[in-house]
Amino acid sequence: MKNIVLFGPPGTGKGTQAEILKEKYCLKHISTGDVFRYNIKNQTELGMLAKSFMDKGDLVPDEVTIDMLEAEVDKNPKSKGFIFDGFPRTQSQAEALDTFLEKKGSGINGMVALEVPEDLLVERLLERGKTSGRSDDADEGKIRNRFNEYNTKTAILKEFYLAKGNYHGIDGVGSIEEITARLVKVFDLL
Ligand code: ADP
Repeated sequence: MKNIVLFGPPGTGKGTQAEILKEKYCLKHISTGDVFRYNIKNQTELGMLAKSFMDKGDLVPDEVTIDMLEAEVDKNPKSKGFIFDGFPRTQSQAEALDTFLEKKGSGINGMVALEVPEDLLVERLLERGKTSGRSDDADEGKIRNRFNEYNTKTAILKEFYLAKGNYHGIDGVGSIEEITARLVKVFDLL
C-alpha cells in the first residue's frame, strides 16, 4: 500500500492537489473536512457534533475524528492506498493512525507538506470565502483561529514525521501544475 499524508496549513491547496494525485496513483483521497461537511449537509449525528467546532474554526475532538477516519478507511478495503488530507492534525491522531495501519500490516510512506507563507493563505481563504459558502472562511477572525489551532496543535507533526525520516517539504507557491509536478517527484519515491 501507498499511504501518504498531505500536509499544510488551511488554504494550501491540499484538496486540489489530492484530487489530481489520486487519479495518477490510483489512491483513495480522504479529506476529513469534506467528510465532516458532507455529514453536516445531511444532518447526521456526527455532522451536528462537528458543526459547533468547525463553525468557530476549532478542531473537532480527537476521538470523534479518529473514529470517523478509521470508518472511512474501512469502507475501502481494496484500495491500493490513501491520500490523507486534513488528518492527522494532532499528535494523538498521528499515533492512532500508526496503530490503526500497523494492525493492517501497513503504515505511512511519508508526509508531504505544502509550505506557503501564512499571509498569502489568509488572503486566499478570504477570497475562497466569497464563493465557497464555508462558514469558517467567512471572516478573518475565524481564519486566524484556524491558524492558531494549526500552529499550536498541528504544526508539531512536522517533528513527528521528521523523527521517522518521513517528512518531505515542498514549496507550495506557484501554479497548480507547478506544484503538482513538485509533488509527483516526491510521490514517485514513496
Ligand atoms: P482547512 O484545512 O481549509 O482549514 P478542512 O476542510 O481540512 O479545512 O477542515 C475544516 C475543519 O474541519 C477544521 O477547521 C476542523 O474544524 C475540522 N477538521 C478537519 N479535519 C480535522 C481533524 N483531523 N481533526 C479535527 N478537526 C478536523
